[in-house]
Amino acid sequence: MNPEIGFIGLGNMGRPMMRRLLEAGFPVVVFDVREDVLAEAVTLGAQPGTSVRDVADRTETVLASLPTPQVSEAVAADVADGTRVQRFVDLSTVGGQAAQRNHAALAARGIAALDSPVSGGVHGAEAGTLAVMVSGPHDQFELLAPVFDVIGRAIFVSETPGAAQTMKLINNLMAATTLAATAEVMVMGVKAGLSADVMIDVLNAGSGGTHASRDKFPRAVLPRTFDYGFATGLMAKDVRLYLKEAKALGLPLEMAETVQRIWEQTLECEGADSDFTSVIKPMEKSAGVIVEGGSR
Ligand code: NAD
Repeated sequence: MNPEIGFIGLGNMGRPMMRRLLEAGFPVVVFDVREDVLAEAVTLGAQPGTSVRDVADRTETVLASLPTPQVSEAVAADVADGTRVQRFVDLSTVGGQAAQRNHAALAARGIAALDSPVSGGVHGAEAGTLAVMVSGPHDQFELLAPVFDVIGRAIFVSETPGAAQTMKLINNLMAATTLAATAEVMVMGVKAGLSADVMIDVLNAGSGGTHASRDKFPRAVLPRTFDYGFATGLMAKDVRLYLKEAKALGLPLEMAETVQRIWEQTLECEGADSDFTSVIKPMEKSAGVIVEGGSR
């Protein structure tokens, strides 16, 4: 019999991760502030929690997938009051500083904290193929191997609190940059008269291929569905967090600052809840073209 797991935050990422844990035979106690997603989790076999504190009173291992550093810190503070919880595994992207504060708040109550941000999107969460970056006590990382195995491939970054978050911000700055760059060149090509389908084929066969051209464009941009599953507001949050940490290191940030301007513009034009593949829309608008094609 697998031990019970607590899971807080059942959004785009949390819901499929929680579902995989249920399917792997872990009893899961869940909580989300949204009643509809909580009810859906119960239909899948999860036990409903009444609050964050309730989950931390009922389970030794509490996982969380939350939108922002502020929410993560508020949830970690409630988890710290839990009577049964022994470890808190934060799968959210919150940046190194929030992670360090969470580590300190939880350590004061004898609770281990593992930063475990993930990469691979909703499709990776559904397939259990996420890259899971982990920092925190190594013995806890080993203990949690059966849980991480259900979610994806766990890579231990270091014991330093926040290190996995820094790694995740680096990964996401790359993802933000390549998506924006791919959008810009696709708009240029279509404006010049090229076929969007042919461009994607050539990029993916050549040296210009990126995760954006291989997966995001065929899935959500060319078919004009814009439903990849990651919100523009969250992408802009990650770029801001990267700049904050890089600035604190006194580094030059010319490229990251340009990328940030593009994402802030997307946020303004398309809204925080738009899918991040919408980054191409303001570019299309100013060029007067649409980048459309079949999903092949
Ligand atoms: P989301 O907004 O879809 O889900 C967040 C969930 O947290 C929502 O269901 C919300 O109701 C819930 N929530 C908010 N406040 C809460 C609280 N106080 N207590 C309990 N639940 C609360 O976001 P997401 O896309 O699932 O992303 C979650 C985290 O994972 C973010 O930090 C994001 O940056 C990161 N991430 C997302 C993706 C992706 O492709 N969507 C990929 C990698 C990492």
